[in-house]
Amino acid sequence: MKSLVWLRNDLRMDDNPALKHACLNSDEVHCLYIFLPDQMKSHNEANCKIEFIIENLIELESNLRKINVPLTVITSKYFDNCTNLVMDVVNQRSINKVYWNNQFGYDEQKRDTLVKEILNQNNVFNESFDDQVVYSPGTIKTMESKPYSVFTPFKRRWIENFDMDCLDIEFKYTVKKESNIKSNVKNIIFEKDHSVDMSLWPAGEKTALLKLKDYLDTKVIRYAKDRNDPFLEGTSRISPYLASGVISSRRCILEALKRNDFKLDSGEKGIVKWVDEIVWREFYKNIMFSFPKVSKGHPFQDYTKNIKWRFDESEFEAWKNGKTGFPIIDSAMRQLKYEGWMHNRLRMVVAMFFTKNMLHDWRLGEAFFMQNLIDGDFSSNNGGWQWSSSTGTDAAPYFRIFNPITQSKNFDSDGLFIKKHVSELQELDKKEIHDPSPIIREHCEYPSQILDLKSSRLRAIDAFSEAKN
Ligand code: FAD
Repeated sequence: MKSLVWLRNDLRMDDNPALKHACLNSDEVHCLYIFLPDQMKSHNEANCKIEFIIENLIELESNLRKINVPLTVITSKYFDNCTNLVMDVVNQRSINKVYWNNQFGYDEQKRDTLVKEILNQNNVFNESFDDQVVYSPGTIKTMESKPYSVFTPFKRRWIENFDMDCLDIEFKYTVKKESNIKSNVKNIIFEKDHSVDMSLWPAGEKTALLKLKDYLDTKVIRYAKDRNDPFLEGTSRISPYLASGVISSRRCILEALKRNDFKLDSGEKGIVKWVDEIVWREFYKNIMFSFPKVSKGHPFQDYTKNIKWRFDESEFEAWKNGKTGFPIIDSAMRQLKYEGWMHNRLRMVVAMFFTKNMLHDWRLGEAFFMQNLIDGDFSSNNGGWQWSSSTGTDAAPYFRIFNPITQSKNFDSDGLFIKKHVSELQELDKKEIHDPSPIIREHCEYPSQILDLKSSRLRAIDAFSEAKN
């Protein structure tokens, strides 16, 4: 019996249900990855994320080789091509069974339905699994059998339903027969077009598991307190590995719970809060699954379609390049450029600045983030942008607008994060750094502010209330 595992967003062996079932049910197992640069581009996948995926495929290939499983990469253009490509491999290699792990995006589901149809028509056994979440999207419902659109009751129900069996993920791989197919991962053609320091994100599931262990052993205990300070690095930075499936969220939850007597909502505060964030990720996957409109560029709150967004090219460029004249915004945007990643607090601050003070359409910011984030994940990014712009589920009320200078003083009080990323302001003390005077700005060759906070705040409130009425 020969099986094919079609890898997509699950570039790992640990807690990989499709790979596990293939190995349990066949003598010979092959893996396939379909590399679709044009599709990735149309989904705004960042160039650094594509490089990260390729590096992880190389690592995975060498791990799979150790259990006699070859990994073949086929390059094509769009999801539409997948049906024929999978069928070709099935026919050429006389495959009996095809396995994969589900993706919940609108286009991804459409693709999988077509592939399933053609496999069924050809009597090829196929089975898919959920590897990205604890509960399949759409299964956690309200009493009225509706999807949740508010996080807290979703989380409550998530905990009520929780069964430790879902974390029964340990598995030792053995494959009986060696295949004579040669792996070809190293032949992938990639054109590098980013300035991210990739040494920050070493590839491979072994690295991801070590990163997780190190974080849980040393830092998670202070998470509730340290998670909002961007300089402290109090968060796990595991998101790129989760976004490309190099580690599973079940593994993250299991390892965290082992350090909290398997308690989900009591015990170590840092661990409870950290697991909460993994559940936020699952919540947004549910939103994407249950409300397809968010995948089609529509806001969750229908009334916000009426907002008259502004567009000013020079403001947009200043924001993208970290030259708005607001040190906390600029340091965050420069972090994004050089690390391909941004601290969560700052993601909220820059997104709110963009959509409220600048009053620019959240979809432009959402796309720019995806094009630059190594952890770009459609559902979390869309959820974060719609939260910040008050267009989404469980969103910040539209009149609650962060003041970037106050946020800077509260969360980077000594200005250490700003100094790390905005070299022009290196010499300033903590009193000056959050909002330097015009003379200091001139001296440091740091730009003046692109907008007035007070009047732009009122402009945003007016635009939202006008749309509502
Ligand atoms: P930790 O604090 O260590 O949290 C652990 C994990 O929980 C994260 O890796 C992530 O998978 C999940 N998580 C944490 N916070 C959130 C959250 N608010 N929403 C959903 N999941 C969360 N996250 C992405 O993974 N990809 C994105 O493209 C993305 N875009 C965002 C855009 C905006 C505007 C905002 C406000 C948030 C966005 N987030 C995104 C969520 C969050 O900022 C990142 O997950 C987090 O900063 C990753 O850092 P970490 O791994 O150190 O997180």
